[in-house]
Amino acid sequence: MMSQSKSNLSIEKTKQSRIDQVDFSNLFFGQTFADHMYICDYKDGTWHAPKIVPYAPFLLDPSTSVFHYGQAVFEGMKAYKDDNGDIFLFRPTENYARINKSCKRLAMPEFPEEWFDEGLKELLKLDRDWIKPGFGNALYLRPFVIGTTAGVIASPSKEYKFVIITSPVQSYYSGDVKVLIADHYSRAANGGFGAAKAAGNYAGQFYPTALAQKEGYQQVIWTDDTTHEKLEECGTMNVMFRIGDTLVTSPVNDRILDGVTRKSVIAMAEKMGIKVEVRSITVHELVQAAENKTLKEIFGCGTAAVISPVSAFGYKGKEYTFERPVQTYAEQIKTAILNIQYNKTEDPFGWRVKIV
Ligand SMILES: *Cc1c(COP(=O)(O)O)cnc(C)c1O
Repeated sequence: MMSQSKSNLSIEKTKQSRIDQVDFSNLFFGQTFADHMYICDYKDGTWHAPKIVPYAPFLLDPSTSVFHYGQAVFEGMKAYKDDNGDIFLFRPTENYARINKSCKRLAMPEFPEEWFDEGLKELLKLDRDWIKPGFGNALYLRPFVIGTTAGVIASPSKEYKFVIITSPVQSYYSGDVKVLIADHYSRAANGGFGAAKAAGNYAGQFYPTALAQKEGYQQVIWTDDTTHEKLEECGTMNVMFRIGDTLVTSPVNDRILDGVTRKSVIAMAEKMGIKVEVRSITVHELVQAAENKTLKEIFGCGTAAVISPVSAFGYKGKEYTFERPVQTYAEQIKTAILNIQYNKTEDPFGWRVKIV
């Protein structure tokens, strides 16, 4: 980690909060933004004094690097409020480290973790009323970094912006999701940047996902790009399979994002006495498990929904369903993690970080 001097963060408060215009019981994910945002600019080889300012558009030259060559990475986190009004983050140092891993892969400068931590905390203190208590309610935090040098030169940008915007969200039930197993398209490749939380990974996913949706599937299970045999991610989430009473998930690699939720689900499952195997799992094994009825659950894991259960999968023109137990691992593990996030239980892992 780079050593860094004091940030000299400055804060300009909004003159007129927009909070009264927001219907907190009727939010669409990622459509409403809180009053303030955090911005820090990089130029001449260093990050300059960050500022918190009222949320507003910023101007960029049409030739700006990010529009043409896609140096853009981001994070997804949440702030939670308990019934006493205290505010918590969940394993934030994982996100501080991961955005820098993503930056490194895209030849972007790393952002000082202490500055990130300070900026986020100050932002949360200012916009704390935007966080509502209760399971599912949260302030979704979207830190991102973009290359901002003007000029269509195909080389790494010399200037960057590190920005944090925040968005109040409610729990959403996406319904039972059916997934299509990819046998042609890939979201990531060996030696590529699938393990980075880069905007481009998402751009490349939209088209194959739209094709799957035409066939009646909401998401795609991404497979390895060489054989299309190994099951790696589900949409924009990590993916887990319950076969018999064992939870199976792929180890992370070049093509898989190292999800905080994935790690937390593994640790929580083990703590609950569930057997977890971190190993490759193939389409062949999954089809067999569906046929011999040992397949009991499939679910995605990610910050937005914690766990998203899958009800069926499609593969090469055939749809496979499976019978889920009344007491699913998905539900039990999700509740246990939510209890930690919302300060309802002890946190033996030390994941919960109180902000204010
Ligand atoms: C963000 C993301 C995840 C989930 O990561 P979390 O840290 O659990 O939110 C999984 N896969 C992809 C591709 C992602 O972008």
